[in-house]
Parts: sequence; C-alpha cells; structure tokens
Amino acid sequence: MTDALSKLLSTRDWLMADGATGTNLFNMGLESGEPPEFWNTDKPDNIRTLYRGAVEAGSDIFLTNTFGGNAARLKLHNAQGRVRELNRIGAALGREIADASGRTVVVAGSVGPTGEIMAPMGSLTHELAVEIFHEQAEGLKEGGADVLWIETISAPEEFRAAAEAAALAGMPWCGTMSFDTAGRTMMGVTSADLAQLVEKLPNPPIAYGANCGVGASDLMRTVLGFFAQGSERPVIAKGNAGIPRYQDGAIHYDGTPELMAEYAVLARDAGVRIIGGCCGTMPEHLRAMRAALESRPKGPRPTLEDISSKLGAFSSASDGTGGCGHDHGAPRRERRRSR
Ligand SMILES: [Zn+2]
Repeated sequence: MTDALSKLLSTRDWLMADGATGTNLFNMGLESGEPPEFWNTDKPDNIRTLYRGAVEAGSDIFLTNTFGGNAARLKLHNAQGRVRELNRIGAALGREIADASGRTVVVAGSVGPTGEIMAPMGSLTHELAVEIFHEQAEGLKEGGADVLWIETISAPEEFRAAAEAAALAGMPWCGTMSFDTAGRTMMGVTSADLAQLVEKLPNPPIAYGANCGVGASDLMRTVLGFFAQGSERPVIAKGNAGIPRYQDGAIHYDGTPELMAEYAVLARDAGVRIIGGCCGTMPEHLRAMRAALESRPKGPRPTLEDISSKLGAFSSASDGTGGCGHDHGAPRRERRRSR
C-alpha cells in the first residue's frame, strides 16, 4: 500500500472528490463540440482554475481534464496523435496544483469510455481497447497522476480492458460506471453485477462505484445495491447535481448546494468512502458538501425512503437488479456525454 490514495483512505473515514469538469469548463467558455482536452495545452490557466476550484472547496481528490483523451475519441477531432501529450499535460497541471495546496491532495487521471461498442456486439476488440487505454494511462502516469480514474463506463468488457491497461501501466486505479437506464448502465449492468465484477479482476481497483447517471437519488439507490452485495472494498459516489434540463440553449442542473450537502451526508452514512459530484457540481456545491460532512454527526445507513424524501423521487420504480421487465441489455448508440 504505497499509493497516495490508499494511504489517505487509511487515515480518514471519508474523502471528498471533486465535481463537474464539463459544466465548469462550459462556464469558462468552452464551446459545445470542442474537445475539453485541447485546453490542457491551449488554455492551461483555465485548467489550473478548474483544479484549484475543487481543491479550494475542500476536495481531497480531483480528476484531470482527460476524460475524452483516448485515441478513439480524439480521432473525431483528428487529434489521435496527441494522446500522450494531452494526458501528460492534463496530469502535470494537476500535480502542480495538488503539490501547491499544502495538504495531501490526490491527482486522479480521468479515463472515460472510448465511445465505441466493444466486441462481440460492436467492432472494438479487447486487444485494441486495452491498447487505447494503455496509451492514455502512460500519458497520465508520465504527468504525475497518483491513480487512474476510469469512469462513466457502461460495458463490462470496456471496464475489464481499462483495468488491464492500468496493470500494464503499473498504476493503481479506481473505476466507476454510470447507471443511467432505470438503475442499470446503458449496457445492462446492475449495481450487483459491478460489485461482483471488481472482485473477479486480477488487479482489483482501490475503490469502485457509480458516477453521473440520472440524479443524486438514483445514484444513492445504486450505492445501496453495492453494499447489499457485502462488498468491503471502498465505494465511490459521484452523483450529478440534480437532473439535467435543456433551457435557453444550454444544459442546466437543478441541484442546489443544500441538496448536494444532504446527498453527501447520506452517502457517508451509507458507508461510502469517496464522495464527490459529477455533472452540474460546482465549487459552491463542494463547499456545502464539505461543511456538512465535517459538521453533521454520522447517522444510520439510510433507507430508500430516507433517500427519496431528502433528495427527491427515483426516476424508475426499480433499481434494475430484480428482473424488473424493463427493456435492458439491448445496446443503444453511445450518447455523447461529458462530465
Ligand atoms: Zn456526469
């Protein structure tokens, strides 16, 4: 146990991760369709501001601006030759901000999905997916990331490929999936499936969990599903700040700092060790979360009723684990998404 995240976890009951990347960068003028990773080289001060915003709001961990920094995604912008550079610099800027903070802050190298469907349903082979993730992992490692943070994954095949790439790069890692389809991922994975999957990997993650998805209520329901499997591995919760609504040509999230503070306390009481936000989570949300985590006494593990009464109704009747009859498992086209 020599990595920075494991060390920090061993000294604290909970750690706070960061909030949104995309939402914060759009607020700084990132155009829709422009790859955020280009700003690592073109507007490094904006990326420093993004990272510093999380650190100053109390985050113990923040994710690098490299979510879409793999060759499959960058190819859409004819930048597949820049994987190593964009990841190295995204991580190096993070290292700089973390090291200047005066406390231990973990730099987590964000690794998002390839955006392609893997074999046997799609055309992306396991070997190529591993190669794509490995290239990105080496760039993040070179830039000084403490840990790889594989996130917003839908397919178990892709999760396994990314885990294998972490092993090839000799990096500790964390992994989260996005449960956005009536409690399941777009590819039909349930909370129970993921809890079992991580324990079967030859190099299991330091922590695993859920990010993004629908709203904070659904995410908390998924988290209870991990604990129902008796998992002792640290769990991660990174929920969106409310539900996205399209308004005046932009996506808005309706979650208030108070709601996210409530969510953070519920997550901690459920037993989550790493608590953060995803889309829509701004520094003011993080500050409210940190203040609540530090000031409010620990309570019992919340029930589903506690969660829906404090955070709002669930988006579907079931969490997808019970053979609920929804039409899941059929692959849809990968939606473009950001964090
Ligand atoms: Zn998100």
